Amino acid sequence: MLSVRWAQASDVGRVRQVNEDACFGSERLFAVADGMGGHAAGDVASQLAIAAIEQLAGQPEIEVADLLATVQLANAQILRAAAEQPAYGGMGTTLTGLAVVQVSGREHWAVFNVGDSRVYRYAEATLRQLTVDHSAVQELVDAGQLTDSQARHHPRRNVVTRSLGSDPAPLADVELYEPVLGDRLLLCSDGLTNELLDAEIAQVLQVLTDPAEVVAELVRRANQSGGRDNTTVVVVDVTAT
Ligand code: MG
Repeated sequence: MLSVRWAQASDVGRVRQVNEDACFGSERLFAVADGMGGHAAGDVASQLAIAAIEQLAGQPEIEVADLLATVQLANAQILRAAAEQPAYGGMGTTLTGLAVVQVSGREHWAVFNVGDSRVYRYAEATLRQLTVDHSAVQELVDAGQLTDSQARHHPRRNVVTRSLGSDPAPLADVELYEPVLGDRLLLCSDGLTNELLDAEIAQVLQVLTDPAEVVAELVRRANQSGGRDNTTVVVVDVTAT
């Protein structure tokens, strides 16, 4: 049976007044949400998304369909809250994460994503992004009109093309992976990836063993680099399969 060791950290950064990110971790379900919307409404949206994830974590078993249903449910709850409270109008959030699901009687990771928060896998000294950003710059990169490094500095780099809080509801990407002993999974908001290059992130994942130390160090480095956004990091180590 899959077992993990994990840690999470979420930090307001050095510029923002409010932390609009939220995250959740349990043995079998992990998620990061990065809210958007004025007057702290983004923080309501991300917390609604994470509350829906937390509820799902209470189920004895999770299937891919449950993840998709949870995204729909969270989307509906965000839309309802926005309709009831004018200050919440237009709020939204990313939602990304991973869950242990049963496929043909075997445990798999289901990596799910809406928006531009990310899940990475660090294995054999290589950091690989598992999620594909739903963002304006990713579309330009896919079309061959921008390089990855140009995308990092593009003025529209914060524009997401899919988020929770939209009508019609967004479709979540879901990919399945076999859990591998020794794998390290990283979930993060763009506050981390806008401040640190993948190579810097990989170096921290390489050097530090304890997930609690890893998340603290990644947040520290994001803040050292400017801390222009909220930074949220979850690290999950596979300790048995
Ligand atoms: Mg952000």
